[in-house]
Amino acid sequence: MDADTPEVVAHHEAGHACAAILRGGASITSIHLDPVRPGYGMTHMRAKAYADGGFIAWAGCWAEARYRWGDRPLDQDDDDGLEFVDHVQGVLLEQPGDRADVIEQEENFARLAAMAPGDEIDVRAATIATYQVWHIELEQAWPAMQRVAELLLAGATVTDAQVRALVDTAVEAN
Ligand SMILES: [Zn+2]
Repeated sequence: MDADTPEVVAHHEAGHACAAILRGGASITSIHLDPVRPGYGMTHMRAKAYADGGFIAWAGCWAEARYRWGDRPLDQDDDDGLEFVDHVQGVLLEQPGDRADVIEQEENFARLAAMAPGDEIDVRAATIATYQVWHIELEQAWPAMQRVAELLLAGATVTDAQVRALVDTAVEAN
């Protein structure tokens, strides 16, 4: 597989960073693209115990897929008949660390669902619905992710305060 371009990596990391801020449970310590190893980046954050680890992990893959998707309408299939969400899944398969966090959150959810009183919860349907909600939240923050990626690509240091301001602006615009 070809190494990811700096643009792809920048959007991936911007997705993690903006998602961390979106839910209010985490703050960013640093985000950077690796200057030595092209195709690698890293976002460090401080997260509360119940911060949405799965959401934040999924968001990096979502942003990478979103960048590659471009201007085509999100509800249209691509030339291979794949939906946008299939592309997110495809990125997740290439990112073992992110995938592990998403699976952990799904398993926690399944455990909770099993403990719920009353009617059985359809875990699969609820999981799909969760992804749909995540998608809507992240699409609202997409302009912020694009700006964070732009700053990273320009070699700028991106701070928690900057990401917070960009996410706030993007969410308020909806
Ligand atoms: Zn990632």
